[in-house]
Amino acid sequence: MARAFNFSAGPAMLPEAVMRKAEAEFLDWHQTGMSVMEMSHRSKEYMGLLHKMEADLREVMQIPANYKVIFTHGGASLQFSAIPLNLTQEGDTVDYFNTGVWSSKAIKEAKRYVNVNVVAAGEGENPTAIPPRAEWKFSPDAKYIHICSNETITGLEFQEDDLEAIFAQGKPVIADMSSNIMCRPVDVSKYGMIYAGAQKNIGPAGFAIVIVREDLLGQARDITPTLLNWEVYANNESMFNTPATYSWYLAGLVFAWLKEIGGVAEIAKRNRAKAEKLYAYIDGSAFYSNSIVKHNRSWMNVTFTLKDDALDAAFLEESKAAGLLSLKGHKAFGGMRASIYNAMPEEGVDALIAFMQAFAAKHV
Ligand SMILES: *Cc1c(COP(=O)(O)O)cnc(C)c1O
Repeated sequence: MARAFNFSAGPAMLPEAVMRKAEAEFLDWHQTGMSVMEMSHRSKEYMGLLHKMEADLREVMQIPANYKVIFTHGGASLQFSAIPLNLTQEGDTVDYFNTGVWSSKAIKEAKRYVNVNVVAAGEGENPTAIPPRAEWKFSPDAKYIHICSNETITGLEFQEDDLEAIFAQGKPVIADMSSNIMCRPVDVSKYGMIYAGAQKNIGPAGFAIVIVREDLLGQARDITPTLLNWEVYANNESMFNTPATYSWYLAGLVFAWLKEIGGVAEIAKRNRAKAEKLYAYIDGSAFYSNSIVKHNRSWMNVTFTLKDDALDAAFLEESKAAGLLSLKGHKAFGGMRASIYNAMPEEGVDALIAFMQAFAAKHV
C-alpha cells in the first residue's frame, strides 16, 4: 500500500522526508557500521546527535539562552506530576485553567501535591470555548499558572489575546503544548516552562520535551523522584540513565527538516492555510459542522460532526478505503477529528475536503 494521509491525533504522521532519511541510515549510520538504535548513548557519535538535536530545536523555537532544554522520560502526562513537585512545597497554591480533558488530567495530578485554584473552567467536560476573561479568578499567592494551550480532543486553542492577559499576571506560566508545539512561532521568554509529549509534532512516542527557565530549577521537593527532577536532567544532559535514544534521533531529524523548509514561520503559514481551508469548507457545508467557538479553533485538531451520526460508520469505512486514516473523533467527544499536524501536507487536507464533498453529495 502507498503511504496514506494519516489524521491520527497521536502517535501521528511524520514527514516523509524524515522517514526516508531514517530508512537510508537505518542499518549503518554514517559509516559507523551500526544503527543509531544500537549505539551507546554515551558514545561520541550519539552525543553529537544529541547536541545537534538540541541546537536545531533551540534555533527553530528561538529558545533564549536562560532556558534549559531537557528531554525527559514518559510523555506529557508524567510532567503533570513533575510540575508541582519541581515548583512548589506542601501547602502552596497554584492556578490552573480547566479547558478540557487534558487540563483536568493535569489538575487531578497536581491536587495530590498542592492546593489547586481553578482560574476558570469551560462548560461541561468538553468545553467548546475558552472561558471569558471577565470570569477568570486568579489566586494572589499562586506559584504558577498552568494552561493546556491546545486541547487535543476538542480542538480548542488559546489565542494571543488570552495568553497576553495570562502573562500580565507576572507569574511563571506553564504550558502543555503537546499538540501545538512548533506549529507557529511562540515567544518562549513569556513562559516559565513549556512541555510537550513527542508523538504529535515532534517525533515518535517515548519521551517529552521540557523547556524551563533556569531560575525555576533547584526548588524541587525532597520527595521528588530523581527521574522527575528537572535539575537532574539539566545537569546530566538529559542522560541520568538510558534515554529513548532512537526516538530522540528521529525527533532530531524532524527538527532538521523543519529548519530546512524554513522553520516555524514557514510551517505556520502552511498550517494556517490548511486549517482555514478545512474550517471554511465545514462552515460552508450544511452536512458537516464544528462546534468550537471560531476565535478558539485549533490549527492542529479539527473536529466535526456529520448531520446524521448514523452515517459515521460509513464515513469512517469509506474514508479509510480512500487512504484517509484515523478520522474517528475521541470517544469523549464523538464525531470526527482530523489532526493536521506539521507533517500533514496540504494535499492531505485537499484530499480530505474532496472526500467530504463527495460523501456529502452521496448522502444528502
Ligand atoms: C497527547 C497529550 C497529552 C498526553 O501525552 P502523553 O505523552 O501520552 O502523556 C497531554 N496533553 C495534551 C495536550 C496532549 O495532546
